[in-house]
Amino acid sequence: MSDDDAVAQLRALIGDARRIVIFTGAGISTESGIPDFRSPQGVWSRAKPIEFRDFVAHEAMRREAWRRKVEIDRDMEVAAPNRGHRAVAALVRSGAASCVITQNIDGLHQRSGVPEKHIVELHGNGTYATCLECGLRHELAPIKAAFIADGTLPHCRNCGGLVKAATISFGQSMPARAMARAQEETLACDLFLVLGSSLVVYPAAGFPLLAKRHGARLAIVNREPTEQDDQADLALRADIGPTLGSAVGVD
Ligand code: NAD
Repeated sequence: MSDDDAVAQLRALIGDARRIVIFTGAGISTESGIPDFRSPQGVWSRAKPIEFRDFVAHEAMRREAWRRKVEIDRDMEVAAPNRGHRAVAALVRSGAASCVITQNIDGLHQRSGVPEKHIVELHGNGTYATCLECGLRHELAPIKAAFIADGTLPHCRNCGGLVKAATISFGQSMPARAMARAQEETLACDLFLVLGSSLVVYPAAGFPLLAKRHGARLAIVNREPTEQDDQADLALRADIGPTLGSAVGVD
């Protein structure tokens, strides 16, 4: 299929839909300079993820987690929303899309202008931290400054509990409200649009299948094949920014 055909097919599916749910993964942010996990240059080619129970059990793992956080935030802090994020924001603004369910933790959908109430974050948010005991929010800047200065690991000023970036690690329970909202939105849509996800991380990857089973159309835009291409009404092996940007008419 030529690039023009791909764009035309995606535009037609979007135009036919009454209610779109957009589902994003790390792939939508690579064009902003944030590496994904499973591409050949992805984060996992360099380091294995730290499981939640190891973070809680071992100081050495917490130290490693904060070391990685400082490193990855160097990319995150300079990253700006790209054409793909802007196209998603345009679909929400026009009312065509009811919400964005994201696995990303980079906050770029918010920064591209999608109102918070239209964003469902399945894997949390990496732009702040929380206490694992009492849930108090902690800002990252002082935590990182202390860690960089002398390796101090953060503890909650309220209850003394362990403080962790507000992202969901492997082995950590999923946020119940976000999961319920994602399910509700998924069941109400007639087009489920996946952008930049390998669709291997569950339970998140269950939502496209749920939408399809419930009668919605499924479209996937991803550079590499995904686990669910065979279920999709349209599976485009393409870059998100140029493809969705052209389909939606956003630069
Ligand atoms: P993934 O790394 O498993 O898959 C990303 C997919 O996007 C890959 O298949 C890749 O081929 C594709 N891709 C990369 N750039 C693309 C582009 N410009 N256009 C089209 N496709 C592109 O990521 P995932 O499925 O989101 O799951 C992994 C986990 O990674 C998620 O839980 C998420 O929390 C976490 N993560 C988030 C960020 C972020 O917030 N930006 C970054 C890395 C990882």
